[in-house]
Amino acid sequence: MHGQLNLVSVGPGSTELIPPRARAAIERSEVIVGYGLYLKWIQPWLEGKEIHELPLTQERDRAALALKIARSGRTVSLVSSGDIGVYGLAPLVFEMLEATDKLDVQVIPGITAALSCASLLGAPLGHDFATLSLSDLLCPWPWIEERATLLARSDLAVVLYNVQSEARRDGVYRILDIFLHHRPGTIWCGTVRNAYREGEATAVCSLKELRERNFDMLTTLVIGTRFTKRTGPFLYAPRGYHGWETQKPIPPQAVWLFTGTRDGNKLAAECAAQGMATVVSVATEYGATQALRHSPESAIVSGRIGQTARTNLLKQSKARAVVDATHPFSTAISSQLMAICGELNIPYLRFNRPKSWLPSHVLAAGSMEEAANIARAQGNRIFISTGVKDLNTFTKTTDREWFARITPGVESLERALAAGLPASHICAMQGPFSQRANESLWLDWQIDCVVTKDSGETGGLPAKIAAAHALKIPLVVVQRPEINYPSFTETTDAVLGWLKALPVDA
Ligand code: SAH
Repeated sequence: MHGQLNLVSVGPGSTELIPPRARAAIERSEVIVGYGLYLKWIQPWLEGKEIHELPLTQERDRAALALKIARSGRTVSLVSSGDIGVYGLAPLVFEMLEATDKLDVQVIPGITAALSCASLLGAPLGHDFATLSLSDLLCPWPWIEERATLLARSDLAVVLYNVQSEARRDGVYRILDIFLHHRPGTIWCGTVRNAYREGEATAVCSLKELRERNFDMLTTLVIGTRFTKRTGPFLYAPRGYHGWETQKPIPPQAVWLFTGTRDGNKLAAECAAQGMATVVSVATEYGATQALRHSPESAIVSGRIGQTARTNLLKQSKARAVVDATHPFSTAISSQLMAICGELNIPYLRFNRPKSWLPSHVLAAGSMEEAANIARAQGNRIFISTGVKDLNTFTKTTDREWFARITPGVESLERALAAGLPASHICAMQGPFSQRANESLWLDWQIDCVVTKDSGETGGLPAKIAAAHALKIPLVVVQRPEINYPSFTETTDAVLGWLKALPVDA
């Protein structure tokens, strides 16, 4: 008679999540081999059986023992948590199986940690995902980092197993840094400790916050993608990606327009209407939806992907020209684009929004620092709408009350709070704002001075000038930083003319 070897999965740790087939296999077995904790969950079915408990680390011994018993002609169940085939003992048994073995081997599937943990977080694995174990006992650490890099660059949700042990404290942070290098710090992540067991704990946080936490070997992490959404305590992957049927691959030899502003998107639409292959590159998801709306013919690239990735994209797609229509205060991206274009020999043109005409009652400042000084001399309840980046320049002096309007993103809100603004002094809302919207907010907050920056007409400056004028409060406007663009223009026609004059094979 042949021995029977059941490789039995018993799920995350609750009797209710043990598959009936696993229970049947255990009940018909004479011998059970497993780790103490797992045996506790199946206690009621163990009566009268021969039990072999081995410590967690002696996996090879457990597999070998189960095989030996089966070879003697008996029926044995080797028990593993989650799914026995996922970072479990099943592969080990197959490795040890001899060609001459005449055994009836059955693998009984179970709910692996990725799935049990995901269920407690909502549905973060609703679309493509991958799992990665951070245990370097079975895989050399450099390979783990290499895999993490490839996964981080992909659009997959990623589940991390064997996250952190007493002996391996730093590895997980190196892996999270890799993800932070390739994905925005604001994407949603979840942690689950002891899913469906005593001591169960779940948490949802941003990728950046995840980097600040401590874990252990009872924890599983889920790293979301830029599409992962949150609703109340739950995370989920949207079932379809918005407008994906209109998302185009990057065409070769295209004109690349770096925008994020309405003028930039309009410009892209004009170029596309003239029959040019166009790519619109924006920094944020919001920018991408706007670009899709205003320039549906263009392929869209979104995210702060960094200089190296950007260089590669432009190089591989043989970009024909770069039009830099980014925000006039985004000097970092402009400098980066000029450097890349210089390196790759791609023609570069800066598209500047026309500077705003400043009426005489407006106070001009050359820098944020100067604006803060002027504002403090002018008022006590000061409204800042220069963006979160510069808030500290204002709030570091605490003898005035500072108020701010910021974009409604988690990261902006965090930065505003970190700059010391109380929640009651923050308005997080997507612009542009009408004169009336400005007036009513400033009236409600009893604002007596406003600071903004010259971002041109579509940045909403005229509405602020008019509102400040109507309320008779001073308006401080920070002037644009001076950058030396190699060539620039202020009109759509001039950009189109420049593009048409480019050599065809440039
Ligand atoms: N075969 C198991 C995985 C073994 S690797 C399975 O399919 O689930 C061990 C890792 O799994 C742990 O470090 C942890 O990351 C994860 N894990 C297993 N059970 C878990 C649970 N109940 N809650 C959270 N994570 C769990």
